[in-house]
Amino acid sequence: MTTAVDKLVQGYCSYRDGAYEKSRPLIEDLVERGQHPEVAVIACSDSRVDPAILFQADPGDLFVVRNVANLVPPMEEEGTYHGTSAALEFAVLGLGVKHLVVLGHAHCGGIKLMMDAQPGTSSFKYVSPWVSMLAAAHRRVLATMGQADEKERTRACEQNAVLVSLENLTTFSWVRERVESGELQLHGWYVDIAVPQLSAYDWESGSFKPFN
Ligand SMILES: [Zn+2]
Repeated sequence: MTTAVDKLVQGYCSYRDGAYEKSRPLIEDLVERGQHPEVAVIACSDSRVDPAILFQADPGDLFVVRNVANLVPPMEEEGTYHGTSAALEFAVLGLGVKHLVVLGHAHCGGIKLMMDAQPGTSSFKYVSPWVSMLAAAHRRVLATMGQADEKERTRACEQNAVLVSLENLTTFSWVRERVESGELQLHGWYVDIAVPQLSAYDWESGSFKPFN
């Protein structure tokens, strides 16, 4: 019987003998000259929304940060282990990426957990405080979409998570300054994997619009 881990090893062998061989010149160049991705993606850890697969990216194309619910926390002075902030700092200051894409998605378990949370009852020590950065956005959705069905409210929360992350990105001075000078562009995208459909936040209309 093939276990999930056996499948990984088989996948690696297939990569080594197939995709790696095909892209060997590119990979050798990336090793020699270093990586210079122009795009960093902040995506959810969800196993169904791998940016490299979704965007059919080549090695070196994407600098990827993944966490529960594709969130960017606000800049914080306190604390020590700021995984997402550190990755973004490296992408912007270390690699000089030109685009930051926050990629939200439908059927997000982290968003559902936040929406279903009852005060004082969570069994998640780290996930609950993490997704609580969306609490204000969730309250706004409930206040403005109280009559909508749960599916629509969930989608609104998932898309609002993208907007909260975009807003929080600008709390970092090195993001804000580069956006203002035009060196860096922020993008809010949302994918419904079941369709599939990719939408982008349109700053003018204040809504998500499909690419196709
Ligand atoms: Zn998710």
